[in-house]
Amino acid sequence: EAKNAGRETYRFFASAMNDEVVVRTRLEAEIRAGIAAEEFFLLYQPRYDTHTMRIKGVEALLRWRHPTRGLVSPAEFISLAEETGLIIPLGAWVLRTACQAATNWDDIGVSVNVSPAQFRGADFVATVRDVLAASGLSPHRLELELTEGVLLEDTDRAGRILHGLKELGVLLSMDDFGTGYSSLGYLKNFPFDAIKIDQRFIADLQPTGDARAIVQAVLGLGRALGLSVTAEGVETPEQLMLLRMDNCSELQGYLMSMPVSGAEISALIEPQRVRRDDVEAAAIAAS
Ligand code: C2E
Ligand code: MG
Ligand code: MG
Ligand code: MG
Repeated sequence: EAKNAGRETYRFFASAMNDEVVVRTRLEAEIRAGIAAEEFFLLYQPRYDTHTMRIKGVEALLRWRHPTRGLVSPAEFISLAEETGLIIPLGAWVLRTACQAATNWDDIGVSVNVSPAQFRGADFVATVRDVLAASGLSPHRLELELTEGVLLEDTDRAGRILHGLKELGVLLSMDDFGTGYSSLGYLKNFPFDAIKIDQRFIADLQPTGDARAIVQAVLGLGRALGLSVTAEGVETPEQLMLLRMDNCSELQGYLMSMPVSGAEISALIEPQRVRRDDVEAAAIAAS
């Protein structure tokens, strides 16, 4: 009886494992083919100045238009792309495409998510340098978003890469802040310019309670260290109001804008550009 059950359990796991291998192998082949067939594209989600509500920059977010499965989100393929090393060509494509797009957008910044394999892979600093040179984008307009996972392994080496990136003039932000184990240590040891507070803290924001206390503490930390702080995942007017009261620098979330196409970003920033041109024209006229 017990032996039988054991055999059944074994059979179940063996077939589940087999299926997983099959699924992963197929997905890997599909990612590879998808890169070649140009099935990947970027959406861009604006990041707003909390007080002026002007767009300060956009975050590039990868999407996959699969021939049969339709639109696939990064949650479904990034980790496999990471494990198989496919994230290296895919990530380089994201960097190139985002920097090229940003050259159409005047002076707003563009943020690109960097995965651990990409960061540790063969000369990431040289890749970023080449992409900047090819696109002509000013380095200060490119921001790289890193999670703690990127920095975990060899901290000396991570530090050298981060300083190499800073020497190029790009900005570094710590993504999903508050979800890791040693975010504070990383802020102390590495040259970050910005923090993005993880959306789970924003989701729980109430006028009183733990989430607000944590958000306020992170904002205080940002001020003390001279870092800009972005709140991710702002979905309600109440969250917006609390973040404004607490002087959070920048906001990103569905309340203001979903991730949208590059053409839509151009349309969204056009009024800002016109306003700025008016101010400049007035200043010239007055001088
Ligand atoms: P992330 O970098 O923390 O990006 C923020 C995620 O939150 C995005 O999900 C975005 O669409 C979503 N989001 C934005 N506003 C809201 C909101 O108000 N509410 C909620 N619930 N969600 C919101 P997305 O695009 O599915 O990306 C998920 C993750 O996949 C990203 O998290 C990032 O870690 C990764 N990712 C996306 N694109 C790339 C890429 O090009 N390279 C790498 N390495 N990772 C990427
Ligand atoms: Mg991000
Ligand atoms: Mg994040
Ligand atoms: Mg995230």
